Amino acid sequence: MSESIPHWLTKQADLAPKQSAVELEDGTKITFLELKTKSQSFAKKLATSGVRKGSHVGILSNNNIHMIIAIHALSYIGAIGVLLNTRLTTEELHYQIKDAEVSHLLTSVELLSTAERLDVPVTHSFSEIDHMKERAINLQEELQLEDYFTIIYTSGTTGFPKGVMHTYGNHWWSAIGSALNLGLSKEDKWLAALPMFHVGGLSIYLKSVIYGMSVLLFEKFDEKQVHHAIMNRGVTMVSVVTVMVQRLLEELGKESYPSKFRCMLLGGGPAPRPLLEKAKEKEIPIFQSYGMTETSSQIVTLSPTDALEKLGSAGKPLVPAQLRIHQPDAEKVGEIYVKGPMVTKGYFKNKEATKKAFQEGWLATGDLGYVDEDGFLYVVDRRKDLIISGGENIYPSEVESVLAGMESIKEIGVVGKEDPTWGQIPVAFVVVSNSVKQEEIKLYAKKRLAKYKVPKEIYFVEALPRNASNKLVRTKLLDLIP
Ligand code: ATP
Ligand code: MG
Repeated sequence: MSESIPHWLTKQADLAPKQSAVELEDGTKITFLELKTKSQSFAKKLATSGVRKGSHVGILSNNNIHMIIAIHALSYIGAIGVLLNTRLTTEELHYQIKDAEVSHLLTSVELLSTAERLDVPVTHSFSEIDHMKERAINLQEELQLEDYFTIIYTSGTTGFPKGVMHTYGNHWWSAIGSALNLGLSKEDKWLAALPMFHVGGLSIYLKSVIYGMSVLLFEKFDEKQVHHAIMNRGVTMVSVVTVMVQRLLEELGKESYPSKFRCMLLGGGPAPRPLLEKAKEKEIPIFQSYGMTETSSQIVTLSPTDALEKLGSAGKPLVPAQLRIHQPDAEKVGEIYVKGPMVTKGYFKNKEATKKAFQEGWLATGDLGYVDEDGFLYVVDRRKDLIISGGENIYPSEVESVLAGMESIKEIGVVGKEDPTWGQIPVAFVVVSNSVKQEEIKLYAKKRLAKYKVPKEIYFVEALPRNASNKLVRTKLLDLIP
C-alpha cells in the first residue's frame, strides 16, 4: 500500500489558521484557513464542471491567486494538473494538450480567448468556475505519495518537450530537501516572481503549505518592484534565474540588502562567472543551484558560505539526493546522474524516453559535469551541445561565460559548425550593446581561453533564438548565418 500524508493544506489550516499563506502585491493577505476554504469550494465547483479524480486538467495562467487556488483544488479532487507555459505558441500548446490528454482547461480571464482556440472538450476561466454551484463530493483528506499530481513539460531546449509526471511524494521530498538545506524560520517570507507553470515557481507555493510559510506573490518579475519588496516588505528568500540577478544587481547599485534577506535561490540554467563575482562583492546571499523539471526543482545547491571558495559550482546534492558522474574522461567530466525521492518516475506516455533516461535507478540528466575533490558539482554543459574540434572537447557554455564578461557583449551563443579540417569549429553569435569589431572579440577570447576554444567566426545578430522558457536554443543558431 502506498504511503499517505494528511492533505498539506488542510494540515496547515489546522496548525496555523491565521498565518498569512499568500500576500498579494497590493498587500492583501490570505490566511491558510481562507486558502483551504477557497480551494475546497473551488474543488466542489470544478466537480460541477465535470472534473473527477484522475482527470487531466490543463492550467493556462500567469501567476495569480486564482491559479494557486485551482492547483490546490485539483489536489482535493485527486485530479492531475497540466501546467502550461503561457508563452508557448498555439501550436506548441496544442501539442502539449494533446500529448497530456487534457480534458478540461482552466485559464485566467486575459487568456480566455487564447484558451478557447485550443482543442479541449471543456474550457473555463477561473471566474466562470467560481460562478458555478458546488457539488457535494468527497474531498481528499489524505495525499497518497505515489499518486500523480502534476505534469509539467520540459523546456524543449534539446528537442521536443517531454511531459514530466510529478507525484505528491516528488513535490513533498523536494520541499523537505530544500528545508533541510536552507533551514526554516518563522520569519520567512518567500517572494515568488517565477512563473508558476515552471516547477521552480510551483515549488514555492507547495513549500508554503508544507512549511506554513508566507509567500509574496508577484504576477511577474519587475526588478523595481522586487527590489523594493526585498528592501521594505520583509522578504527573506527569493527564487530567481540568471537574468533576474543581472537586473537586480543594477537596481541595487551602491545599496545593500537588509540582513534579514537570507537567500537568493538561483536556478534554471548556467550563471556566468563575472555575474557571480559581482554578486559576491555585493555580499548577496546567492544559493546557486542545479535542477531540472525531472527533479521537481533544485536537487544540488551551493550555500553562500561555500560560494566564497567554490564560485561557479552548483554545490552538493540535497540531503535526500545523490549524485554521480557517469563515465568520466581524463578531465573527470562525464554525464551527471542523480537519484532521490524528488526525481520523477518518468515521462507521460513516453516509455522510450523514460527508459533512456533511467539507468539502474539513476536519472541520466543529459548534462555534463564534474565533481571536485571536496564533492562539489560543476555543471559543464549539455551533452548534446559538446563541440569536438580536432579531437579536443569544447563546452560552449564555458566560452559563452568568458565572453559574457566583455563590456559590449549583451548576449552570446556558441555552437559547433562543421569543418573539413577540424571536424567542428566553435562559432559565436553575439548581440552587442555598442559597436565592437570581430577582431576585438577574438582578442579578448584569446587572452582568456585556449586557442582551440576561441570562436573562429563571429556573427553579429539582433537576437538569439530562445524558447518559451527564455532559454538559448543552440541548435537554431546556425540558421542565423546569412
Ligand atoms: P529539454 O529537456 O526539453 O531539452 P530543458 O532541459 O531546458 O529542456 P528544463 O527542465 O527547464 O528543460 O531545464 C533543465 C536544464 O537546465 C538542466 O538539464 C540543465 O541543462 C540546465 N541547468 C539547470 N541548472 C543549471 C546550472 N546550475 N548550470 C547549468 N545548467 C543548468
Ligand atoms: Mg532537459
